[in-house]
Amino acid sequence: MPWNRPLIIGLLLVMLALSWWRLQPDGEELRRSRLIMGTVVEIMAAGEDNRALETAVEAAFNEMQRLDKLFSRYNPDSEVSRLSQSQTGGEVSPETAEVLTLGVEIARKSGGAFDMTLGKLKSLWAIDEETPSVPSPADITTALSGIGPQALALKGQQLRKRSPQLQLDLGGIAKGYAVDRAVAILKQQGVTSAAVNAGGDMYLLGRRPERAWRIGIQDPRKEQGVLETVQVSNRAVVTSGDYERFFEQEGVRYHHIFDPQTGMPARKCQSVTIVTDSVALGDALATAVFVLGPAAGLNFLEQFPQAEGLIIAADSSRHASPGWASYKVVP
Ligand code: AMP
Ligand code: MG
Repeated sequence: MPWNRPLIIGLLLVMLALSWWRLQPDGEELRRSRLIMGTVVEIMAAGEDNRALETAVEAAFNEMQRLDKLFSRYNPDSEVSRLSQSQTGGEVSPETAEVLTLGVEIARKSGGAFDMTLGKLKSLWAIDEETPSVPSPADITTALSGIGPQALALKGQQLRKRSPQLQLDLGGIAKGYAVDRAVAILKQQGVTSAAVNAGGDMYLLGRRPERAWRIGIQDPRKEQGVLETVQVSNRAVVTSGDYERFFEQEGVRYHHIFDPQTGMPARKCQSVTIVTDSVALGDALATAVFVLGPAAGLNFLEQFPQAEGLIIAADSSRHASPGWASYKVVP
């Protein structure tokens, strides 16, 4: 049979296209979002098989939803609500014990700046609700009585409340833990490149095809402004900011991160970003440093060699931990 030149050229082109396609390590890219823990959670995953990615991302979302059922203050049947209602505490699931163990450690190391016993204070301010307002000093004093890290004792999976009225709030750490679990599920399902973002609690798994992940750090006072960019791989990047949830009254901003000593929104920072190896740790550290402020915050971070931080202080000055520069992309 005589060789048909256009046919040969056509076949060669097809073969070339196929080999190019096979050489692309991350042929498919999938983006999905779901409302979990009062936040839009976004997962982006890359790989070769779209169906496998769909299955993995779905499983990761389902795991986060399962955890929300344990940790939510808004669901009266959650484990956290049950503990808040009980007089003395009780047995908790391994997941709740893990979150509480880390939270108690950060509470202790931060001298109580991080505090999972602020449930009553959170309800009083009602910042997440329709009509928040500044509470009276007397109500704040009542909400703070009997709370603090010393009011919780955890032995294995047994939690003891030292004050019967104490209400738990895991809002400063639970989202981070849930992102860690979602990433674990993605990895179990064979995903090697992904980004999970739950409202500023992020994990960046693996790399993008061309390089590591690049994350812009938001200017706390400019919605579309980026202050700095970090480049990371297999790291958590977590931000706590006073611009996330707040209301204004008589020109004063009242936001959702409280100083447990005063019961008022913490005043020393606009935002804190932590880069570290787990999102749960980054979440707790970002909240703690936000309350401590730049000087005490950087001191506190020295206890965590695996964590680096960037603090935007109340006067908009920037303060970074010594190792921060290793992540920063120099423009
Ligand atoms: P984040 O955005 O991680 O800084 O967490 C803020 C959330 O943590 C708030 O909405 C509260 O539920 C809770 N929270 C507020 N103040 C504190 C604090 N000092 N320590 C721990 N959790 C806090
Ligand atoms: Mg936090």
